[in-house]
Amino acid sequence: MVIEKTPADPLPTNYRPTGGSPYRFGTRSKETWQSIADDHGLGVWELIEFNFPTVARIANLQEKCAVVNWYLRRNVGCTISNDGKNWSFEGATGQIYLPAIKPPDSTLKRTVLDILADPVLPGLTISFGGRQFYMGRLLARVAGRIIDDDITVQFDSALQGWAEYDHNDDRIYTGFECNPTLEQRGGVVHEAVHAGLDLRAEGTMLVVEDESLAYVTQSYFLYNKLPADWRLTGEWAEEDQVFKLAWDIADVLFKRRQPEELLWNALDSAIRRHPKYRARATDETGYNGVRRKSG
Ligand SMILES: [Zn+2]
Repeated sequence: MVIEKTPADPLPTNYRPTGGSPYRFGTRSKETWQSIADDHGLGVWELIEFNFPTVARIANLQEKCAVVNWYLRRNVGCTISNDGKNWSFEGATGQIYLPAIKPPDSTLKRTVLDILADPVLPGLTISFGGRQFYMGRLLARVAGRIIDDDITVQFDSALQGWAEYDHNDDRIYTGFECNPTLEQRGGVVHEAVHAGLDLRAEGTMLVVEDESLAYVTQSYFLYNKLPADWRLTGEWAEEDQVFKLAWDIADVLFKRRQPEELLWNALDSAIRRHPKYRARATDETGYNGVRRKSG
């Protein structure tokens, strides 16, 4: 007799896990949870708990199996047992689901890591406000935390190609899903600088300082990638002035020199006039560090 147990908090009979794609029974003979899991590079319990997530909360293995049997009959329509203890998928009238082959953001994550691995970045050191910023090291640390999923990457169509960093969620939003343009790559570097300063919990740094470092690093990244005499440009005069000055600073840094105070001050004023930052240029960033989500 098949051993079943009714769970305390049953899932709906038509429960379908988010992101699950229906598995077609009969793909091979003698299908079991194990054979299906093996065929798709999954752990057997990973597959079972994907289909019936509440089962994960049951610690006792026999009880877990009994609840799975209950679901197999009720949700998957299994009526045949080959060993007398567990339901088989043979003749099942219902459905089980396979998780998506990879999480939707993993390609994007790789794209962002690829951008941050650019060989031009490790050489960048910026003297700014009486401090040294080793941008290469900072961005390498950001990449490490992206690998660990402490900093996450997510597509947001509303950004229309651009990128944004949210220091509360420790997340980089990108407006592209794949194949970013050079300018979009530069945008990712810009946001990664914000992430790096958040990582260092530079909460008392001013927005105008934070943006200065981000714009200069972004320009430096693109400096030798754009054709000669090209640079990043902005739509409005105030915006364009920020790009122009950041580009001038990148030009000096590329010659392995540090820009004069005058140039930094000019960039500072330009950012304060930029419509996007005008209202909050002298606010503190409030960067609160990046939380460890793993381990
Ligand atoms: Zn920014």
